[in-house]
Amino acid sequence: MSGTILITGCNRGIGLELCAQFAEIGWKVLACCREPKKAAELAVLQERYPSIQLIRLDVTDYEQMISLGKAFQGEPIDILLNNAGYYGPKGVGFGAVDRAEWRRVLESNTIAPYMMAETFCDNVAASEHKLIAVMSSKVGSIADNRSGGGYIYRTSKTAVNQVVKSLSIDLEPRGITVLALHPGWVKTAMGGPGALISAEESVGGLKKLLLSVTPAKTGRFYNYDGTEIPW
Ligand code: NAP
Repeated sequence: MSGTILITGCNRGIGLELCAQFAEIGWKVLACCREPKKAAELAVLQERYPSIQLIRLDVTDYEQMISLGKAFQGEPIDILLNNAGYYGPKGVGFGAVDRAEWRRVLESNTIAPYMMAETFCDNVAASEHKLIAVMSSKVGSIADNRSGGGYIYRTSKTAVNQVVKSLSIDLEPRGITVLALHPGWVKTAMGGPGALISAEESVGGLKKLLLSVTPAKTGRFYNYDGTEIPW
């Protein structure tokens, strides 16, 4: 199948690779990033794949998001992929948490994906594939937390997992499937050079999962290789 995918945070990392791999298989890609004029790698990709449309969006700027929603009113979006994310300060443990940064991370990683779903659910409902996916992280899994710490980023991903679960229930009557995803530990600016896999490998797995998912899988948390992760 082919269709339209809207992806946030496309100027680098996993988002950029998602654009490349979906454009390669003939999808129309609505590639959102904060500063399209500075997104050099995305501009190069767009030259190769004219089906990529660059869109300005800071996911925490809700006025901008709502205007974008109005601009795309009536246009089907098969996959809404909330990829943009912010880690916040690294190596912050118990006793050293920056509350202002914590709020910033929650805004980007938890509230913004919810707002994207609210803004674009009509577009997704009007499509063939009807899928909303959120790039979460395994470190948001409470069942998997054996090392403690990571208060800021962990809680933002745990909370967005709960957003995914509620959305899956609330949007089921409209035929929309909602998933939380873990991309693996990926070599990007966020994952660092010591990460385990490349963005190509991560996105290869995620793409397969996104294209094959059925409504029976709604409200679940998946690793990039298709295995399920406990909440
Ligand atoms: P990355 O290389 O740091 O890229 C993050 C992307 O998110 C950038 O495009 C960034 O744009 C964008 N972004 C951040 N805040 C934004 C905002 N307010 N509005 C719009 N865009 C914003 O990270 P990545 O590794 O590709 O991560 C992508 C997603 O996977 C994130 O949600 C992350 O939490 C998740 N994840 C990554 C890993 C990993 O190992 N890499 C593991 C688990 C989960 P700017 O350039 O404008 O900042």
